[in-house]
Amino acid sequence: MTRPSPSSSGPRVGKVTGFLEIQRKKWPTRPVEERVRDWKEVYLPFPNDELKKQAARCMDCGIPFCHQGCPLGNIIPDWNDLVYKDRWRDAIDRLHATNNFPEWTGRLCPAPCEGSCVLGINDDAVTIKAVEETIIERAFEEAWVGPEPPTKRTGKRVAVVGSGPAGLACAQQLNRAGHSVIVFERADRIGGLLRYGIPEFKMEKRFVDRRLRIMEKEGVVFQTGAHVGVNLPVADIIRDFDAIVLAGGACHPRDLPVPGRELDGIHLAMDYLTLQNKRCEGDKISDDEFITAKDRRVVIIGGGDTGADCLGTVHRQEARSVHQFELLPRPPDTRASDNPWPLWPNIFRVSGAHEEGGERVYAVSTQRFLGDASGRVRALEAVRVDMVREGGRLDFRPIAGSEFTLETELVLLAMGFLGAERPGMLQDLGAKITERGNVWRDPHWMTSVPGVFTCGDMQRGQSLIVWAIAEGRSAARGVDLYLMGASDLPAPLA
Ligand SMILES: Cc1cc2nc3c(=O)[nH]c(=O)nc-3n(C[C@H](O)[C@H](O)[C@H](O)COP(=O)(O)OP(=O)(O)OC[C@H]3O[C@@H](n4cnc5c(N)ncnc54)[C@H](O)[C@@H]3O)c2cc1C
Ligand code: SF4
Repeated sequence: MTRPSPSSSGPRVGKVTGFLEIQRKKWPTRPVEERVRDWKEVYLPFPNDELKKQAARCMDCGIPFCHQGCPLGNIIPDWNDLVYKDRWRDAIDRLHATNNFPEWTGRLCPAPCEGSCVLGINDDAVTIKAVEETIIERAFEEAWVGPEPPTKRTGKRVAVVGSGPAGLACAQQLNRAGHSVIVFERADRIGGLLRYGIPEFKMEKRFVDRRLRIMEKEGVVFQTGAHVGVNLPVADIIRDFDAIVLAGGACHPRDLPVPGRELDGIHLAMDYLTLQNKRCEGDKISDDEFITAKDRRVVIIGGGDTGADCLGTVHRQEARSVHQFELLPRPPDTRASDNPWPLWPNIFRVSGAHEEGGERVYAVSTQRFLGDASGRVRALEAVRVDMVREGGRLDFRPIAGSEFTLETELVLLAMGFLGAERPGMLQDLGAKITERGNVWRDPHWMTSVPGVFTCGDMQRGQSLIVWAIAEGRSAARGVDLYLMGASDLPAPLA
């Protein structure tokens, strides 16, 4: 694991007793009644004075478990100390040393670093994520963030397929190493799930565009409407490039093949979220094509983050009511005995969208959809389930007599993803696929096809932005080594 060495400039813990004197503060948000009337971000800037106090809670642990928790290996105690000492410029340099896009993780990451923060053993973790976001926004305000083009070009050409956080991190690293990089994206805009999955109220798209402008100035070329394996033959990119990186995500959705699935008014979450994101971008989408929750009784099937993103969108579209179904039982409020620190805490969480309303229903399985005479969904039938563990496998047993019917005019399926899409690019390349449906890679991030690399959800399965960036950085080093025989690029992951 290659990580920058920690700061050597003096004692690192700003306020030695900070963790004893200062309580964790919640990140301020706009009031619910205000924010559900627009698409702007839910979170307000953390006041600087308060944030410095929060940073002072860091204990500069001898073994900082926050490092291990963060896939990027962010050097968290260093920036906490630098923020407390008002050394913001040093803080952004330290942050950028391990993370290409801290403004995205600062807003969107569930913060595994906070889950493993040592303070979390018997107190609330340091507000690492808010510190990260505040450092990068201050850096943009001060114009400390700008293009970093390479001093010389290698003459090598690399194609990156897919423009999500993995492809973008990989492209930026390879470009900085002097290679000429083109990012091919089948959609009409760059950004992957940052653009069309994640709603505006979680991250305004201007924060994606701001970073893309910098990358363009650095020399990265973006080509949209380029669907590799469909309108851009795989053979062409093999012919035209010295290396290829597959960063196409894990877009194959999990469906719910129960009776009535074919009825109108039942949609995959990504179809629903994409249309609203396009409208937020200013695209003209006809009402016939648009999927709206307005005045409808909505059921979201899937209790995870994608479901929560649907929930926040449903609120803003002014639904009549909304239920969110989850097959698993409700998590406990605090860590269970088999989920100790520093593991990720599997606890009951209330996201911004949940604060805004809706009813969460746990341990429930949808059995069938019922339609009206015009073929539109009018209700669903569901049953409560008991979760049982058998030989390491989870099973969900219907509870006799617990069946119920719920009226609904819109159902959104947010049950996760089954891995990489295989028809087209992956089939044409003949890339090996793992049992879990992901693209296979070797320790240097190369697929079974020589000169073709992979990173992000396409090789990992649906995951997180922080993992996508870490993998993009690591794959870039693999590509650089392949092209040049040596590489100075850092790789946070093996
Ligand atoms: C609704 C939703 C909300 C989420 N919210 C969060 C969150 O808040 N925090 C978090 O950490 N994670 C979140 N995630 C997960 C996170 O977005 C992903 O883990 C991350 O975006 C993966 O990055 P990636 O670059 O691997 O792939 P993606 O972001 O999926 O990007 C892949 C891109 O490749 C393109 N592509 C695919 N095949 C081709 C081809 N053949 N030719 C050209 N282009 C192609 C796709 O169009 C897409 O734009 C969320 C996921 C979803 C679905
Ligand atoms: S684990 Fe928590 S307290 Fe310790 S160094 Fe990291 S952020 Fe600071």
